[in-house]
Amino acid sequence: MNSPDFTLDKIKFGTDKRMLQKAFELYEGGKVTQVKEGVRSYRGIVIGTQPYNVSVEARRYDYADCTCYLGKNDEFCKHMVALAIYVVKNGEPLTDEDKKIYHSPTCSGKIGELGTDELREIKKTISYGMRYIKPYHGLSRLWFSYQNSLAEGCNRLAKVVSELPVSKQAADLLVSVMLRLDKKLTNGRVDDSDGVVGGCIEELVEVTFEYVKIEPKCLKAVEKLRNQNTCFGWEEPLVGLLERKNNSYT
Ligand SMILES: [Zn+2]
Repeated sequence: MNSPDFTLDKIKFGTDKRMLQKAFELYEGGKVTQVKEGVRSYRGIVIGTQPYNVSVEARRYDYADCTCYLGKNDEFCKHMVALAIYVVKNGEPLTDEDKKIYHSPTCSGKIGELGTDELREIKKTISYGMRYIKPYHGLSRLWFSYQNSLAEGCNRLAKVVSELPVSKQAADLLVSVMLRLDKKLTNGRVDDSDGVVGGCIEELVEVTFEYVKIEPKCLKAVEKLRNQNTCFGWEEPLVGLLERKNNSYT
């Protein structure tokens, strides 16, 4: 079987958590059967409540069809995702790493410094994720895919953040990610009506608190948030913590 243009990461970042978990279950339960390759496409039978005929294009995993109720209504479904997983894995078992879903940023809990090359790669990955959080140009029929793009960007950022070793250096990165996301919201060009990006910023604030608990030096990174006029005051608890610490030293 020829490899498709998409990867497992692409599927993982672009699919919401519940649907992804169900698709993993279908795949691991051997429910994706009779997979055949066509011209730049794949088809197979996915056994759900009933057997469904499912197909997916090689260029994009969400260019797919399914004979289930959702698929018939032009909606995306877990059977499509399960077939897409089969295609990228070529029917091989999923590893633990494959099954890890990073849909919110977390603190790795490990203290450590990043090397120069590592830091450069991480910054690149962050900028790549940022590109998915793009301005909305107002075509209502594109709303759904636009929201998906915001979610994909946040999922990509969640993964890179969750893997960072805790240090002042990583805390600086967190602060810069939060400020970059904030700028996208405050300049009004990103339409975050579903609150995906705002939610991501709030989760990053939580991660920063955990960093400070593990490595108090991380609090210095918060200095940069002083006197910032952010979109919904998300920086206030962090700046408050910084001020309380500073006062306790004097
Ligand atoms: Zn389906």
